[in-house]
Amino acid sequence: MDLNSRIYVAGHRGLVGSAILRALQQRGFHHLITRTSTELDLRNKAEVDRFFGQEQIEYVFLAAAKVGGITANNDYPADFIRDNLLIQTNVIDAAYQNQVKKLLFLGSTCIYPKFAPQPLKEEYLLTGELEPTNQPYAIAKIAGINMCQSYNRQYGTNYISVMPTNMYGPNDNFDLQTSHVLPALIRKFHEAKQNNLSSVEVWGTGNPRREFLHSDDLAEACLFLMDQYDDSDIINVGVGQDISIRELAELIQSVVGYEGEIVFNSTVPDGTPRKLVDVTKINKLGWKAKVTLKEGLESVYKAYRNDLLIKQV
Ligand code: GDP
Repeated sequence: MDLNSRIYVAGHRGLVGSAILRALQQRGFHHLITRTSTELDLRNKAEVDRFFGQEQIEYVFLAAAKVGGITANNDYPADFIRDNLLIQTNVIDAAYQNQVKKLLFLGSTCIYPKFAPQPLKEEYLLTGELEPTNQPYAIAKIAGINMCQSYNRQYGTNYISVMPTNMYGPNDNFDLQTSHVLPALIRKFHEAKQNNLSSVEVWGTGNPRREFLHSDDLAEACLFLMDQYDDSDIINVGVGQDISIRELAELIQSVVGYEGEIVFNSTVPDGTPRKLVDVTKINKLGWKAKVTLKEGLESVYKAYRNDLLIKQV
């Protein structure tokens, strides 16, 4: 990519896409192309074909997806598999039909088998059974990876697939039913503090372990890989360290300054016991995550409170 490249960020209002857009803007890329979902429904092939036909796009960051936490995945399995298959199929194929130079597809660590050894190495893909709670989403993402690989093999394209670990950052979803654990807990602890509640409910047993990557770090990694990585094999992006949900809850409790109790509701499923990615491959290429979880949580909590103030005005 050079500063004049025509770059399309699909999903630019989401957690990942907005971070990629910020990183590109900061570096001075000025032909950045974006569309909101009302302007362009990526599930609609005719609309996507028309858009690619008009825009002469050279590079694509495919960060548009239907995403959600454990409950959303469980409650809306059909939406998750359909929307993701449609979005990625339309964009990947339109990229090929319109001679896009390179496309970066964003996957997820839920593509790895539920009981794969930890940390998760890239080669564990398709070696065992998936976690049932997000299987439709995971299967859509696996299809996207395979589609990128198959297009590279048959059509000689240059499509790469990046597997980020659990992410957080600005523009996250804070809806208690559909969000992931980190934004949900920020909101729960904040509201408990505001309302002087005596306890906060955390789902599951608190034992599962998760790794959390700040979206600014992921964006840096995506720009780095767009420039440096030209291989069909998937590549992980993570921090290389995980913590238990219990430890995460305690950390958020202290960042928010909440003094009440934490109560675990083990009637809600735990999901995958552990999801830590092996980051040897990307580290060897010369990239490492920078934002610590404590710093990241503090900045996200600050942004969350600012957004609440703006909404009140
Ligand atoms: P996952 O990483 O795909 O399993 O998705 P989540 O981020 O939704 O959940 C991660 C873990 O956090 C699971 O074990 C959840 O049960 C647990 N968890 C605890 N409290 C919450 C909460 O308030 N919201 C969510 N989404 N997960 C929670």
